Amino acid sequence: MRLEPTMKQAVIRRSVRKFSERRLIAAAVEMDKTEQFPWDIAEEMAGLQYFGLEIPATYGGAGLDSVSTAIVIEEISKANAAMGLCISVHNGVAASPVYLFGNAEQHRRFLNPLAQGKKIGTFCLTEPNAGSDASALETNAIRDGGDYILNGNKVFVTNGGISGINLIFAKTRADGKDLGFSVFIVESEREGLEKGPIEDLMGMRGNPVCPLSLRDCRIPLENRLGDEGGGLKIALSTLGGGRLGIAAQALGIAQASLDASIKYAKERRQFGKAICDFGAIQDLLAEVGTRIEASRLLTHRACDLREKGKKYTMESAMAKVYASEIAVEATRVGVQIHGGYGYTKAYPIERFYRDAKVCEIYEGTSEIQRVVIARELLKG
Ligand SMILES: Cc1cc2nc3c(=O)[nH]c(=O)nc-3n(C[C@H](O)[C@H](O)[C@H](O)COP(=O)(O)OP(=O)(O)OC[C@H]3O[C@@H](n4cnc5c(N)ncnc54)[C@H](O)[C@@H]3O)c2cc1C
Repeated sequence: MRLEPTMKQAVIRRSVRKFSERRLIAAAVEMDKTEQFPWDIAEEMAGLQYFGLEIPATYGGAGLDSVSTAIVIEEISKANAAMGLCISVHNGVAASPVYLFGNAEQHRRFLNPLAQGKKIGTFCLTEPNAGSDASALETNAIRDGGDYILNGNKVFVTNGGISGINLIFAKTRADGKDLGFSVFIVESEREGLEKGPIEDLMGMRGNPVCPLSLRDCRIPLENRLGDEGGGLKIALSTLGGGRLGIAAQALGIAQASLDASIKYAKERRQFGKAICDFGAIQDLLAEVGTRIEASRLLTHRACDLREKGKKYTMESAMAKVYASEIAVEATRVGVQIHGGYGYTKAYPIERFYRDAKVCEIYEGTSEIQRVVIARELLKG
């Protein structure tokens, strides 16, 4: 087993870091303050193929392996967590299922613009009464000749305010019969789809997360992704990959926090010496540094299994729960090392703390990840 990045992966990390330092770090402050999405930066990122990380070059993607994809998301999130979230969700749970489950015509109509960053994607599973229990979703898709009529409400749609293509999970019904969940590709301009106001979030404020409603929204059969009733299979397989994106995001935020804490601990002087000379501060740094490294190894191992086409359900849940909890811990410790200044907006550490928390919540809470891990362990 290879534990070191390949030469190509090391080059990718260096090049994304260079771009992120140049374009994303300063933008993160502004995005947090104004909640405005920077389209000019997104356009540059599209040119660098960040919107089609694992999608083959024939569709305009970068055709990267899974570990490289995690490295890109980590580096972007390190500089700008809200943009990391945009890229992670767009790639992991929007472009990826369209690639894996779409037909040739859907690839032409939807995957090309997604992979080339001409349209931003969303994944709309959560509803007011269906959070951790996705099986409780109430959005309905009723067959009407060659179309479906969709009605329902989605909440917490990441990228919602800027999306062009939305994957909507709905309960399919025909002639009064329940046919299970299906997934529909719904363009933002389609009549009957409406976006609600942007959420006033605690962190990740630069990402326009919003609710989305469907009122008699007529969708042609050609826009159904995969089989009728095949939505659960698509959701489960997509979320397995999506969790790796969240683990990579969390890793980026944790690393940014550690780097900022080390810098501050070397600069700040108390009792006549730098605070990094105190054993208590060194213990905090050592603990966080070790756990970040463990998160990276867990994440890359799960990516490696995905790349080899092996089962990685448990490993991706382990990577997600561990990396996100370490991100929260690393940022909490980071604020502590910054003392009172950590509690102000003079340093980015308070933003890292706010940004990190949601990694324990979305794409399955930590409690749900543990349910997944325990189920897999008990199978064995
Ligand atoms: C910023 C943000 C962005 C998001 N983006 C998206 C998105 O793009 N697409 C999308 O579909 N969703 C998205 N979500 C929704 C997110 O995935 C859900 O919030 C999450 O799955 C939890 O659902 P819930 O909020 O309804 O909490 P609930 O399911 O109501 O959970 C509340 C609490 O109960 C616990 N709990 C529930 N069931 C169990 C159980 N069986 N065992 C133990 N504990 C349990 C949970 O862990 C949690 O602590 C986003 C959320 C946020 C905050």
